[in-house]
Amino acid sequence: MLDDSGRFLVDRLVESPSHVQDGPDVAVGALEEALDQVLGLTGVARESVHAVGLGTPGPASADGVISSKGATNFPQTAWHGFDFRGALERRLGVPVTYNNDGNAAALYAHHVHFGSEAALHSSVSAIVGTGLGGGVIEAGRVIRGAAGMAGELGHVHIPMQGLLADGQPVPECKCGFFADAESVASLTGIEKNLLPYWLTRFPDHELARAGSIGEAAKLVRGYGDSDDPLALEILGQQAMALGRLFTIASNFIDPSAYFVGGGVVEASPKFREWFLAQVREHTLLRYEQLKVATFALIPDRDMAGARGAALAAFHSLVNAL
Ligand SMILES: [Zn+2]
Repeated sequence: MLDDSGRFLVDRLVESPSHVQDGPDVAVGALEEALDQVLGLTGVARESVHAVGLGTPGPASADGVISSKGATNFPQTAWHGFDFRGALERRLGVPVTYNNDGNAAALYAHHVHFGSEAALHSSVSAIVGTGLGGGVIEAGRVIRGAAGMAGELGHVHIPMQGLLADGQPVPECKCGFFADAESVASLTGIEKNLLPYWLTRFPDHELARAGSIGEAAKLVRGYGDSDDPLALEILGQQAMALGRLFTIASNFIDPSAYFVGGGVVEASPKFREWFLAQVREHTLLRYEQLKVATFALIPDRDMAGARGAALAAFHSLVNAL
């Protein structure tokens, strides 16, 4: 929540159940309750709210209509093609702006990093979680694209030569592509592609005895934190994949900044710096670009998406003045 000067009024993430599993009506009602909960915390009256930002995992249209084919986080058929933004706007009676969670986090990262100079810069953010989300910001604004699908960095194809080890199968993404960025740089990529291969190279590793490959995949980052060789192979491949993705971005939009966020950097400061340095090393910039580009981690973890959604709502009001 921001006041009319653009200052955040709550310094932490206020979480409440989304009730997405109970269908759109219940979930929209839960969002209204969540808004009232935050208003209660800050002592702000509902009448003082001029705009609300909504952010959700995709795929959804630029205007917040959930994909007609459904989405991982919105399993019931009632969500297919549901105009989430429009429904919340009708419920709350104030304008609601929409961004997918990757774009929202990218917007937040950009504004935190550049502050009052946000409008003078561009940036690319990659957020490594279950999938690989992201966003592209130009002149302080989210690039949405014609169909709302700009910044889907996870499904950009990247070169695998020199990234994969001898005999390592070409990784497949759940979107159906082979060798895109998410097929390597995501938790799903570890589970489906990287860990099964690397366990053949480290057959005596403790992770080979984990309950399931899914459980083992979640433990990889923790092992990386303690310099475990298998984990460092996997996380090194992820960092290289992000560097190759950023190399493509450098030729497309030549941004001022490259941001990395998500679960992969929620580790010890030493690990985070190592990971970011690996990403930087594999991002092949030209001399002129190296002089001006910065690499940084996205701050505030889970709060980045929520704050980015709120920032977008704030910008919509400022632009309307
Ligand atoms: Zn993909």
